[in-house]
Amino acid sequence: MTDEKTTAARGASPLWNRRTAGLTPYVPGEQPRSGRWIKLNTNENPYGPSPEVRRVLAGFDLKALSLYPDPGASALREAIASEAGVSPDCVFVGNGSDEVLALAFQTFFEPASSGGRAVLVPEVSYSFYPVYAALYDVPLTRLPLSAGWRVDIEPYLEPSGGVVLANPNAPTGVALPRAAIEQIAAIRRDRVVLIDEAYIDFGGETAVPLTARYSHLLVVRTFSKSYGLAGLRVGYAIGHPRLIEGLCRVRDSFNSYTVDRLAQVLARAAILDWRYFRQCVDLIIETREAAVRDLAALGFEVTPSMANFLWVRHPDVPAAWLADQLKQNGILIRHFSDPLLADHLRITIGLPADMDRLKRVLARLLRAFDQTQTER
Ligand SMILES: *Cc1c(COP(=O)(O)O)cnc(C)c1O
Repeated sequence: MTDEKTTAARGASPLWNRRTAGLTPYVPGEQPRSGRWIKLNTNENPYGPSPEVRRVLAGFDLKALSLYPDPGASALREAIASEAGVSPDCVFVGNGSDEVLALAFQTFFEPASSGGRAVLVPEVSYSFYPVYAALYDVPLTRLPLSAGWRVDIEPYLEPSGGVVLANPNAPTGVALPRAAIEQIAAIRRDRVVLIDEAYIDFGGETAVPLTARYSHLLVVRTFSKSYGLAGLRVGYAIGHPRLIEGLCRVRDSFNSYTVDRLAQVLARAAILDWRYFRQCVDLIIETREAAVRDLAALGFEVTPSMANFLWVRHPDVPAAWLADQLKQNGILIRHFSDPLLADHLRITIGLPADMDRLKRVLARLLRAFDQTQTER
């Protein structure tokens, strides 16, 4: 058995093609296999899925697994469509929104080799976008943010090969109002504008209503964050039926059955239980607002967040040190080594008790850090 690390250390195999050898894959946050961690590093939902998901799972007819799933995922798409207020032919589902995003890059953005113009993304955003762009040879222009990690929409109004924006943005949690998305969509109609709404349920304004008026606007969402189903791998896109048809063409040239039978019925159960969904999301928002106050009281600069995580920086204490010390105390948070991001920490909103523990450990670490400084 080779583990992933030793393979990486050995370098490229001569059997890989040139493109594979040249890839720089996305590195997800740590998923410890065991141990008692407070996991605030990958923006999962601490409440887990609706009890309806458990009920449907318990009643699932195992024999059905001998049959291929519905390739069109009709029942799930109908549930999503009804929740979103669109028709089912405006909905595409995939194996997590990462897959939907990858399919969208392949379906809509022109590769450099066939003369494609650069797709515009914020310089600080979901770090999977540049990975997809490299994989599919899509040219990308990364536009700097303005002060306060805000996306300044001006440059996105210029001619381009398309636009990809996470709203709210990651890892900052900063949201754009719907009117700003509409401004971009209204000016650029010749290429796809893709809005990644992985965190929209935590307070942002969704662009879904705009998809009825702008046939080049695609909104991508996931069950991983607000529905507590990151382990199930279900994401979806909402847009004009012609966009959806394009995604289906690419999917059906690759794998017709990306969403398995269990995923289809369990995701459907989750979206139908809107009451549980609302409760969880409201609790997470409430916990987030308490955490904003607590972290500010400890001296952190906290970027206002519309997501289920906080983007914070301590003016005196190095972020990498804090991340490391928290880990030694059983708390995982996310620290990025990219120089633009390295003085910040991204902290997922967990259970209130987890956030209390985080606050207490941080207070102790900050005192300890002060101590080492004064001793010098
Ligand atoms: C988590 C996340 C995704 C991926 O979600 P999956 O549905 O789990 O693949 C996509 N975009 C952003 C911005 C995310 O943070």
